[in-house]
Formats: sequence, C-alpha cells, structure tokens
Amino acid sequence: MTRVVGSIAPHGGQLVNRVLRGELCAAALERAVSFPRVALTRMAVSDLEMISVGAFSPLTGFMTRADYDSVIDTMHLSNGLAWSIPVTLPVDDETAAGLHEGQEIALMDGNLLMGIMTIAEKFPADKEREAREVYRTTEEAHPGVARLYRQGNWLLGGEVFQLNPPQECEFPELRHEPAQTRRMFASRGWRRTVAFQTRNPIHRAHEYIQKTALEIVDGLFLHPLVGETKSDDIPADVRIESYQAILRDYYPADRVLLGVFPAAMRYAGPREAIFHAIARKNYGCTHFIVGRDHAGVGKYYGTYDAHYIFDEFDHGELGITPLFFDYTFFCKKCGAVVSAKTCPHSKEDWVSLSGTQVREMLERGEMLPAEFTRPEVSRVLMNGIRAKKPAANEE
Ligand SMILES: [Zn+2]
Repeated sequence: MTRVVGSIAPHGGQLVNRVLRGELCAAALERAVSFPRVALTRMAVSDLEMISVGAFSPLTGFMTRADYDSVIDTMHLSNGLAWSIPVTLPVDDETAAGLHEGQEIALMDGNLLMGIMTIAEKFPADKEREAREVYRTTEEAHPGVARLYRQGNWLLGGEVFQLNPPQECEFPELRHEPAQTRRMFASRGWRRTVAFQTRNPIHRAHEYIQKTALEIVDGLFLHPLVGETKSDDIPADVRIESYQAILRDYYPADRVLLGVFPAAMRYAGPREAIFHAIARKNYGCTHFIVGRDHAGVGKYYGTYDAHYIFDEFDHGELGITPLFFDYTFFCKKCGAVVSAKTCPHSKEDWVSLSGTQVREMLERGEMLPAEFTRPEVSRVLMNGIRAKKPAANEE
C-alpha cells in the first residue's frame, strides 16, 4: 500500500500498489520463467495495469467468483463496497483445463512477461447474465457484449503483481498514476478537483461543461481514456494533440492537469459511469462530470440513465460527487454556449452536429463551425484524420 496524499480517501480506504520494483521484481521475473504462461486479452492487459497502479482500488487482483457474482447482481463487491463492473481474467477451455487453483502463472502481454498471479479460483463465466445485467443487453451488435462473447469461457481469479508495464505504452509522459496525481493536486493546492472523462475531442460544448464545473472547485483533471476503444472513435494521439492545443490557448495552466486514463472502454453506459467515477476517486478527484449517455454506444441506453444510476447508491457510498450535465450547444439567440436546461429557444437556433457529420466534414477538409469547435481544435483534428484515413478504414 502507498502512503496517500490528498483530500479524498481512495475507494475502500487504501491505495493499492501491486507494482513490483527493483530486487523484488528481478526475483519474481526469475521465478516466473518456470510458471505456465497465460495470454492476456487487450482488456486484461489494461486491467492488470489499472489494478496494479491502484486505479481500481480496492481490487488487488482479478475477481473471484463471489465478487464476480456480487458485482453482477448487486453492484457491490462481496464485502459490501460499491463496484459496478466485473474485472476478470478470461481464458479459453484448453488453457483452463491445464491450470489448477493454487498454481502460480505468468501473465503475458504478447511475448512480454507483464505480471504474475496465484490462481485462487477457476470458474466458468456467466456471459449471458453478465451481458444482461452489466450491459443491459444480450445483443452481439453491442461492442462490449461482442467482446464478452468472444473471450474465453473460464475466469481465473486471484491477486496479481505487475512486473512490467504493458508493451504498448502510449503517452508515458501523461500516464500519471493515482499516487502521482494525488501529489500533483496537493502541490497545486487543489483541495477539490473535478475529473472529466472523455474519448472525444473537446468541442465548445465540452469546454463549457468543464469550465462550469471548474467554477465550483479548485482544479480540473482532464482525463481522456486511451485504452482499447472502437476503431471508429477518433484516434487517441489526434485527440491528445487537440487537447494540448486548446489547453494552451484557452485554459488557465495552474488550474488544469492533463493525464491519460489507460482503461479499456467497455461501453457499458450507466454501470461504466459508476466505474469511471470510482476510478477517478482513486486518482484523488472529489468530483466527477457525468454527461449525457456517458460511456454509451448506439441506442442501448437512455440519455440520462448514467445520471439515474447514481441514485441506486446510498448517500456518500461512492465518496465522489457526481456533477450531472444536460445536452449543451451554442444557441444563436442566446449568443453563447448553453444547455437544454438554461436555453428557452428551439432546436432551429442551436448549432449542433452529429459525430458522423463532424467526421465527414473533417475528412473533406472543412473547418467545423467556430461556434461548435474552436479553429485550433478543428485544424488538429482535420490534419490528424486526413493523415490516418487509410489506416482508419482497415478494421
Ligand atoms: Zn437560446
């Protein structure tokens, strides 16, 4: 466990640290050479890192059956602590048949020995129930459900140690771990920090939400997700460049911190909103912005389902304060960015573009309307998307 700095306690009270370093790491690497090797899925690679750095505190490993069942059925761990998403290590039938409880295994990210685990439990996944309860659908057209159905039928639960960071480590300079962000917030004098989760560029509507939230706290932690996402989301490196462009020119440097959130996207909508909030609490944030259809995909979730789900938890149970925002946009009559909550005018006066329209305009080399997106951001996105267009069509 790491000494905790900052004004909000991690979820469960202690910040987990399962990263072995120095001599301990060297000794573990030497022993692990003889362990059976288990290939991690992309999501499990990400989860192993998130567990190890404490972003998923209080988890110290992949879930055993009691936690898996309890999280699916009640949105709580078996010890009663709020938790909304299963964090599991799936393996196929053949791999499972060769392993037994009590065994130590090497967790492989491709050819890299990323970590070790002692198998506490080996049990079958209940995919349909997990899909129905966690994703609220069993349709395979849902990207999270499709991934769940593709993965192995068995789950290995047990405590982990990370020996190496993942092979593909994007933006190492922005990969601040929870223990670091807690120190960074404290050194800036921020007692209250709001986190903004995103996998999209910052359009004017998002800037409005972030700055409105910043008015009532001390600092803004802009925390875009760079883990595994759908192939049609805007590529992470283009997004990061667009964030840097807008932060440089339009945000007070001493009130904003940019970091990347290396979690895999589940697209579980409301349940993932809770999960994202708990993780940001571990990073030391006191407030969390929840927008419309947070972590949603397609038409699987109601626009405000990710708001309503917070009501299913007792007051103070999550520890972090959610800030709910409505649909925001530029209104020509108001002459400002406003929201459905604050603007009395009708849709005809609103400047709005769908994600598809945005992508098509950028691909054609057109600047987005300045009321919708600042030109600095438009330019970065346009250049990035046009440069990547052939690659983006591959998948
Ligand atoms: Zn208006």
